[in-house]
Amino acid sequence: MPELAEVELARRQWAVCEGEEVVSVQSHGKTRIYRDCPAPALRELRGKSIQSSRAHGKRMFFTFEDELHLELHLGMTGKLYVSSASHEEHRHDHLILWLKESCLVFSDYRQFGRVMLHDVCAPWESLPPQPQDDAFTQKYVQQKIERHGRKPLKAFLLDQTICPGVGNWMADEICWKLALHPAIPTAKLNASSLRKAIRFVTLGALKHIADKNSKPSLDGFAPGSYVAQVPPKSWLFQYRWKAGGHCPKCKVELERGTIATRTTAWCAKCQRE
Ligand SMILES: [Zn+2]
Repeated sequence: MPELAEVELARRQWAVCEGEEVVSVQSHGKTRIYRDCPAPALRELRGKSIQSSRAHGKRMFFTFEDELHLELHLGMTGKLYVSSASHEEHRHDHLILWLKESCLVFSDYRQFGRVMLHDVCAPWESLPPQPQDDAFTQKYVQQKIERHGRKPLKAFLLDQTICPGVGNWMADEICWKLALHPAIPTAKLNASSLRKAIRFVTLGALKHIADKNSKPSLDGFAPGSYVAQVPPKSWLFQYRWKAGGHCPKCKVELERGTIATRTTAWCAKCQRE
């Protein structure tokens, strides 16, 4: 599932068309991505243009005139891209915003993605801070440890009300960076080192994924991903996907198991229990 850096990369695809007017809206209204917002409501976007956009965790907000915010979630397999005015609609293109000289496409073959429309001011302001935000302070992390200290570290990291945007691979990377087993209770950690590791991985992911992939690729690093450029060989990332992958630090073969209901990879030698 796309995590915060891939979501940011997706946002940047559509953001290049900021300022251009939506001429018409085409939707597959019966698909599951419209479970929170009936497709006809999107007709409101006609005649308006994207004024600004932002990603927040795994969500994207595209702000149109009159304080209208289109919120998109990529789910498992959602992709955003820009195509030409002669774009031939594919089966999985469930939302197309036609502009004068191009079109903005949201395609999603498994339909776990979502579309929402808000007409309230700054709907992202009520969301918890992202790890890369200034508000993700040591005090914030300390309060979360005090409240959720019994959670295994991996579950703590995956909790979208604590670390919005962190998903499975980033959580494994953070545990590896901390040299701690993903199942240890979070109460054992100190807020300063936990915050530091979360931010190292978050900011690094944005740099290596959102900044280095200007265009989405057809062959991403995992099913549903459309990212070709990935974090460097000094990260766990490069080894965690395939059986037989080894720890980049000590070269021992990685362990695999289910922790916090997700497939998890870790190094039994480097990561203390
Ligand atoms: Zn190791």
